[in-house]
Amino acid sequence: MNCICTVANRHFWHQKVLFFLNLKISHKLSVIYYSTKPLHASILQEVKDIKPLLQVHAQIIVSNLSHNVFLCNRLINTYASCGLMSKAQIIFSQSLNKNLVSWTVLLSGLAKNDLFLEAIEVFYEMVVQDIRPNEITIASVLPAFGKLGIALMGKSVHCYWIRHKFGDNVVVETGLIDMYSTLGCMRIARNLFDKMSVRNVVSWNVMISGYSENGYVEEALWMFNRMRRKGFSGDVYTQMSLLSLEDLRVGSGLHSLIIKSGYENDQLVKTALMEMYINCDSVNDAYCIFREINKKDLVAWTSMLRGLSKSGNWRRTIEHFNKMLQDQIMLDSVSLITILSGCSFSGALDQGKRVHALVIKSGFEADIFVGSAVIDMYANCACMRDARKYFEWMEEKDVACWNAMIAGYGMIGYGNEAIELFSKMTNLGVSPDESTFVSVLCACSHCGLVAQGLQIFDHMTKVWNIRPTSKHYTCVIDLLGRAGRLHDAYSLMKRMHPKPGVEVYSSLLNACRIHRNFERGVEISRELLELKPNDAGYYVLLSNVYALAGNWSSARMARKALKSNNLKKNPGFSSVEINGELFTFMASQTDHPYYKEIKEFLVGLFINIEQAGYEPDTNSVILDVPEDVKKDVLFHHSEKLAIAFGLMRSKPGMVIRITKNLRICNDCHLACKFISKVYGRVLVVKDANRFHVFEDGVCSCKDWW
Ligand SMILES: [Zn+2]
Ligand SMILES: [Zn+2]
Repeated sequence: MNCICTVANRHFWHQKVLFFLNLKISHKLSVIYYSTKPLHASILQEVKDIKPLLQVHAQIIVSNLSHNVFLCNRLINTYASCGLMSKAQIIFSQSLNKNLVSWTVLLSGLAKNDLFLEAIEVFYEMVVQDIRPNEITIASVLPAFGKLGIALMGKSVHCYWIRHKFGDNVVVETGLIDMYSTLGCMRIARNLFDKMSVRNVVSWNVMISGYSENGYVEEALWMFNRMRRKGFSGDVYTQMSLLSLEDLRVGSGLHSLIIKSGYENDQLVKTALMEMYINCDSVNDAYCIFREINKKDLVAWTSMLRGLSKSGNWRRTIEHFNKMLQDQIMLDSVSLITILSGCSFSGALDQGKRVHALVIKSGFEADIFVGSAVIDMYANCACMRDARKYFEWMEEKDVACWNAMIAGYGMIGYGNEAIELFSKMTNLGVSPDESTFVSVLCACSHCGLVAQGLQIFDHMTKVWNIRPTSKHYTCVIDLLGRAGRLHDAYSLMKRMHPKPGVEVYSSLLNACRIHRNFERGVEISRELLELKPNDAGYYVLLSNVYALAGNWSSARMARKALKSNNLKKNPGFSSVEINGELFTFMASQTDHPYYKEIKEFLVGLFINIEQAGYEPDTNSVILDVPEDVKKDVLFHHSEKLAIAFGLMRSKPGMVIRITKNLRICNDCHLACKFISKVYGRVLVVKDANRFHVFEDGVCSCKDWW
């Protein structure tokens, strides 16, 4: 019989199964019957698929061996590794002669299939039935406590281990360290580690990954060096946990070490290296690694797609995505969501529509996560009708889908629609989360729906038990401030917890600017300056408030603070999509390939809108320069360049969609109104805060921004 096992190659187990089944049917049936037990067992050990497993299981039943505890345990183990835990549980419950191995196999199967609660139940059942677990049983149940975050129960098993004097055991001790690290109890983990009499590579790895996952960069590195001093060179897992530290200095050091130690060609290590460079915003290094990977799998392609999209280089992102399609990489939900959020961020509607078609083609249309990404894409391109259509079509919606819709309505200024959808959601029994309230409160503040907003804010804490975060406070303070209730806004700011950040002060300052309440404006400015914001935008706002109050010396002081703090204004850029291609313009970018054409066009454009009554608002320029220079600066704002290019290249009547990284300035807002009227075009401008839809000389925000 043994020859059957040795003859059949390990990888051709299915042939072995067939061979075995044929034998059974043959005349030799009676001869082999006696010794089928080890044969069944040896086959089960190699079975990795459901179909042959069912065949062998049937044979075991036919051969009247289903009560053999040894075979039962093997069956439980094999069903568990095929992921069929319910089947494994049935065999376990029907088994008459359960032994310790049966319990252990079931328990470890449950834990490996992420059924942690069930694994813990089995463990306690064992203890209740007075079956003494062994080291393997305990090591198998420990991860469950860590994963479920139940420290107290985990500790009680640790006590059980000590009380029953199991003695030193590297597997259990490593399991305990892992459990405590997952629970975030690094000091206990370290204490256990230091007391270990014997350690293996896994113990070192568990300690290092514990440190890196809990954000202890220095400790993780120190442990790694200590490991090497003790003569352990580390393996793939060591490298991977260190790479997950997301520290470029550590990562590039490791990169050279990886090359030296010969792990360079390991697919897992390579992907982890690439991920590290992506997470450290070093996209070019990541791309070099990506190119070196011989067999690029979907994970590698998608990670790189995420990296490129994160870097904001849309052209390279879309090129990479097209390459994925050319190479016939089977897209999954993660890759589709990645590209959709890229489209959403860049406002690339044409590309977004193309991806939507791919979503349908690849059968992910009803996927709840992909669905919410599609809705989010349409909403972020101000196509609320398409977003709503998809939203209504989706049978199953999660809270993210509702949030995307509500946020979309809010950004475009449809406050009532946002509130209506919010109440529909709660009426249907969908529980709103923190983001839902941020979206709906923002919607209220963008539309000046004060009473509704305050009521929703009140319900958020009282009915939904959600503690307001600084984002919620910012929305409500913004809502009150814009409505002119500066005193209420200010006192809410003083009461809020956590303490107000820069964004709250700046929104209040903006309200002071709108309502020309300079006294309070100056007061808030002082408090804002104490916070020392490192974004130049706040100094601009500050200086504007002083300037509007006629306090020129303070205005100059704010500008000086800006200079002396060495803060550069975040470079403004705008993009416009024309026939599926995205064109990006930086403010004052004179080296753009189309600059000459655009400049000529803009000169004409300004003559046209000035004739219609436009006058440049030079207050939008913070620089201490003569008026004509200020006009020139305004002329070169990125959204103006993008709009001019859009007007030049698109067909008459087409909507021009602009996406801007910063908030639109007063002057551009004014110019857009005139452009929409003079040129008879709809301009959709998405700035850092919201949408402005300009049509026939008016903006959808009703100048409420
Ligand atoms: Zn501007
Ligand atoms: Zn507007």
